[in-house]
Amino acid sequence: MNNNLLRKIPKMDTLLNDLPDHYKVRFDNIHLKKTIEKILNQFRIQIQSGQIETFENSDIMSQIRIELDKMIDSTFKRVINGTGIVLHTNLGRAVISEAIIAEITPLMTHYNTLEYDVETGRRGIRYQHIEEKICAITGAEAALIVNNNAAAVMLVLNTLAQNKEVIVSRGELVEIGGSFRVPDVMKASNSKLVEVGTTNKTHLKDYTSSIHENTGLLMKVHTSNYKILGFTSSVEASELVELAHQNDIPLYEDLGSGLIVDLSPYGIADEPLVQDSIKNGIDILSFSGDKLFGGAQSGFIIGKKRYIEQIKKNQLLRAFRIDKFSLAVIDRTLNDYFSPSYAAKHIPTLRMLVLSKQEIEDKVSKFITTYKKRLSLSNISVTGVETFAEVGGGALPLEKLASYGIKIGHESSLNTIQSNLRKFTVPIISVIINDQLVLDFRTISESDFDDLVGGIEFAVSGGSNA
Ligand SMILES: *Cc1c(COP(=O)(O)O)cnc(C)c1O
Repeated sequence: MNNNLLRKIPKMDTLLNDLPDHYKVRFDNIHLKKTIEKILNQFRIQIQSGQIETFENSDIMSQIRIELDKMIDSTFKRVINGTGIVLHTNLGRAVISEAIIAEITPLMTHYNTLEYDVETGRRGIRYQHIEEKICAITGAEAALIVNNNAAAVMLVLNTLAQNKEVIVSRGELVEIGGSFRVPDVMKASNSKLVEVGTTNKTHLKDYTSSIHENTGLLMKVHTSNYKILGFTSSVEASELVELAHQNDIPLYEDLGSGLIVDLSPYGIADEPLVQDSIKNGIDILSFSGDKLFGGAQSGFIIGKKRYIEQIKKNQLLRAFRIDKFSLAVIDRTLNDYFSPSYAAKHIPTLRMLVLSKQEIEDKVSKFITTYKKRLSLSNISVTGVETFAEVGGGALPLEKLASYGIKIGHESSLNTIQSNLRKFTVPIISVIINDQLVLDFRTISESDFDDLVGGIEFAVSGGSNA
């Protein structure tokens, strides 16, 4: 043990005094002292174990500064999504357009009319900002919006089927994203699940024979994240509508994603349109605001007025209510939906989904032409490669979108490059397919290019800044 070295460790007060002023403004003495103490302890231990044989006061000071900087660094930050998964649940789901963020910034940085009616000068209702718009766009009679679709499901079940039975096909008892399971939500909402049919086949007669006086709801769940293929049969919504109405029981469908623009011309079919479900006579629909709808985290509940009015009176609504930020984003996103072609151009999720393979290939060419020379200086090769992108967000699990990207070649191992890419100031998320490190450009925009090229250089140089 080196006692001389231990004695050389500066005093707390000296370090506090020498710390640059901006730290003293940002942190109070409690946090400063705690951090200094932590670093001093680390030094003491390293000296005692012989790991440190000599040091300067400035070494200690720089450790303290790194530690303090780390405290106010955020792990929640922008990334570059090279996975080609447009609605990536782990990467923030739907991207919000810059135009919308610019438009709502004054509302968020000032007071606003969240619950104020400027006509009467009295209290307003937050849901009214969007109700007419979503009804005009989908054809629903009434609408409500809550914190997310999981809350929407809870609220519908709790309002219309508390202490009553809810009939659901066995093939639709889904789990979404690990934490949302239809049977569990059912239990939490105090309604009783009645499973009918089998995993692969459910017939109308299965529903019919299960209806009795304590049936509160017929429920359909869009099996958004998986598909049962082969020998299957499920009951069409239109048949269920008839059965429900004959028995005066509401029919509710949890749509999950909430697609409003018909994407079949772009090769994306098989996802029901919200307005078609309304047209088919389904009484209540719920769907997420940040999946295919392309807005902020929220859950829409739309449908027949008599049911929506009941839901609006449920006390749980207060616990599930949407916040002003999400509501503002949803309101502006709805403004983009009055023309499908306008929506497809302006809502980032839809814009990325309708990109043709050729358009993505052009984007890739532009990247390669611009940066090939620069990257080759670091012995990095970038080549165009055909890829398959995905919708994500649990929507359209089998749909693969022909896409295009780059593969990165370098003498370092792919796994090392991949993990270094994630360590860049703007983390870059890549995929390894068939022993190739690939970045899909469906989900990478030209505004990412500068950071992307910097990140690639950073990753091959061992994950440290040049
Ligand atoms: C995604 C999804 C949910 C949950 O929606 P959140 O907005 O994530 O709460 C519920 N049901 C279905 C069918 C879904 O696809």
